[in-house]
Amino acid sequence: MDDRWIEVADRVWARRLEELDQTLGLVTGDACALVIDTGVSAEAGYEFATAIRELTDLPWQVAYTHDHFDHWFGTQAFGESAVWAVGDGTSYVARGDEQRRAWAATYRRDGKEERARQIGATRLVPPNCRVQGSVGLDLGGRTVVLRQVGLAHSDNDMVVEVPDAGVLFAGDLLEEGAAPSYTGAFPIEWAQHVEYLLSWRPTIVVPGHGEPGDYWWARGQARDLAETARLCGEVAQGFVTEDEAVAHGPFGPETTKAAIERWRELTPPPAEPAPPAATAPAGPPPPTVVYEIFDYSLDLRP
Ligand SMILES: [Zn+2]
Repeated sequence: MDDRWIEVADRVWARRLEELDQTLGLVTGDACALVIDTGVSAEAGYEFATAIRELTDLPWQVAYTHDHFDHWFGTQAFGESAVWAVGDGTSYVARGDEQRRAWAATYRRDGKEERARQIGATRLVPPNCRVQGSVGLDLGGRTVVLRQVGLAHSDNDMVVEVPDAGVLFAGDLLEEGAAPSYTGAFPIEWAQHVEYLLSWRPTIVVPGHGEPGDYWWARGQARDLAETARLCGEVAQGFVTEDEAVAHGPFGPETTKAAIERWRELTPPPAEPAPPAATAPAGPPPPTVVYEIFDYSLDLRP
């Protein structure tokens, strides 16, 4: 598959990439463009920026859906611009540094030397505009909403809503063509947040990986996320065994296993039962109190 654009609504595009089957986004107004995620490396970012320049010459701002490397390592290509995200710059740099090292090693191990070199050479561009709650961004005649999600696929997810076009850019909260990734995720909260995010009934939902889908596709994913959360809870309560849950999880055995493991990691083990109280030293038994019985019956006869 060659990289390609899909215009999902009026001046709202999804950029489909071969690498990681990723989906980046672009929304334009009359005065400004919003770029949603930037790809796995500076090279990927330059290719994306070039493709954007074929569509528009408007100045751009950038939004990060979360801090996983494939969503923001391409920002070097976008020069000095406003970069919106939920996570703060310091944490982006610290985690970016870690991911840069780990992913360069992974690609090298897989024999993808060129990709490993590109990732290793990435200049990290942390966000400079922080989103807490929600921010309305005026692109000129059109306002998009950047919305903090809360704990879900990561601890810093953000979605982008384009209300006038009915489009929701969901980041990795939803994936098409592959199971969602529970590494570092919050299985219970994730499902709840997706329900909430779909409550305004977007017509088009653009996932972080895979093809854009409609509202009903997104609902199907939300249902499967909820079922996975439920299985985690049922395993914890002993209603089903882990093997049963893994065999019946809607996203397949591996993903269900990962979700349960992550859920366990997040859940503190039950407290140890308190040691029995030290027995009181033997002594004479307390005295028995004897109450006298009185006859309270009253003679009510006139
Ligand atoms: Zn991710």
